[in-house]
Amino acid sequence: MPATREALIAAFAEAGHELWLAGGLVRDELRGLPVTERDDLPTKDRADADYATSALPDETERIGRALGATVATIGQRFGTTGVLLKDEMAEITTFRGDSYAAGSRWPDVTFGSSIDEDLARRDFTVNAIARNTATGELRDPFAGRDDIERRLLRAPGDPRTRFAEDPLRILRGVRFVSQLGFEIEEETKAAMVASVELLETLSQERVTAEIERLLCGKHPQEGLEALREIGALPHVLPELAAMPGCDQNRFHKFDVWGHTTATVEAITTDSASLSLRRWAALLHDLGKPPVRHVKKNGEWGFYRHEIVGAEMTDALTERLRLGKREGALLSLLVRRHMDRPDPDDGRLVRRFMRRLEGHWRDLLALKRADNASHTYDDNEYHDRLEAACERVEAEEAAMLRAESPLDGRELMDLLGREPGPWIARIKERLSTLVLDGELAPGDKEEAARIARRMGGTAALLADSEDRS
Ligand code: ATP
Ligand code: MG
Repeated sequence: MPATREALIAAFAEAGHELWLAGGLVRDELRGLPVTERDDLPTKDRADADYATSALPDETERIGRALGATVATIGQRFGTTGVLLKDEMAEITTFRGDSYAAGSRWPDVTFGSSIDEDLARRDFTVNAIARNTATGELRDPFAGRDDIERRLLRAPGDPRTRFAEDPLRILRGVRFVSQLGFEIEEETKAAMVASVELLETLSQERVTAEIERLLCGKHPQEGLEALREIGALPHVLPELAAMPGCDQNRFHKFDVWGHTTATVEAITTDSASLSLRRWAALLHDLGKPPVRHVKKNGEWGFYRHEIVGAEMTDALTERLRLGKREGALLSLLVRRHMDRPDPDDGRLVRRFMRRLEGHWRDLLALKRADNASHTYDDNEYHDRLEAACERVEAEEAAMLRAESPLDGRELMDLLGREPGPWIARIKERLSTLVLDGELAPGDKEEAARIARRMGGTAALLADSEDRS
């Protein structure tokens, strides 16, 4: 039985150590969100609770083990210990002190002696609030509560120094725009603009993880727009840098960038597909800027942009290390996003589905979102295509269930015969024909014709053999 949060709190108090709840949980509590309804995070992160303590990492480990909890060092460099509790993963970090080496690839941390010293090292004022787990005291040295009220992201202290200490904070800020719908305070934003080049010093893993969180936030359009506004696109997503200002034609309300961010925003789902679909939306028109040309009628054309876009997607997903499977899938979705089979033509619908390798729902979600910022409305077509695909899936499932279209009773009535082993034989034959695709599931008429033919010959003979 894993230890509870209460047991952890008591154990730290017992050992004479301060234990403060900090980070996202305190912020969201002050935003008025009940802990269980935090909705700005992917589910897998939802139970993470961040604590700050006066105990050194070894001591934290000892306390965790004494509780019988699973204990892991999460970031030795940061002094973070993970303690697996009943309902949460407690990430317990020793108070940080004042020794970041400016410009270094990884911040170098020494330990501090008070919660206030620790809070001064944090990224934004709204995250620099802590609650003492034993006394309930709230520490908020940078008036983070006022910024929560105003919905502002502000770096505590001098923002340029803070971003130089750890440039990832720039991307964390943009990510919080998407997750919380907050705005970046002006001075902090100016410091981000002045510091974007430092993003090049970050490891790709840290950058990709922040982009992923940004994309899966509640306000991804605002987050992406902030990313563009501070000039970060050329540094973290250079493949997208040609989109802003790439005008389109009368079918579109926005330039390629505005259209792309609107498409990402229009992807709404609770399912595990959110990340995949948001990425697909972000990348679907990647090929447009490089292929743009003037058509005979004088308008911009984007012929073959889905093919060029798919190739660019391959390179981008590899660079971001998104994983081979996800990369291939995203490339496929980009490649096929212009597909438009006639929903009334079964053969075309089947081919469409086969090309999507089981992901036609993801493509349809992309097409619907894509259409959300077009000047025309394609909902009716998408409804028809979806219904057609559902029908094919239902037919396939019926084929695999391979049930005889006629049951025993119906066969007895049809052939006017007594019950007997002949029924099983005819049903077996009919279901095999269904499985082989030679008889449509539920086609009683054709099944009756076959049954009559069999009833006159083989089945009867077989029955008389049974009797002998
Ligand atoms: P989430 O709700 O996504 O967990 P969070 O604010 O808890 O958001 P975490 O990444 O879990 O973010 O980090 C926990 C806390 O640690 C943050 O609230 C912030 O105070 C601090 N923190 C994390 N990373 C940094 C960083 N790079 N620089 C400064 N402080 C940081
Ligand atoms: Mg957290």
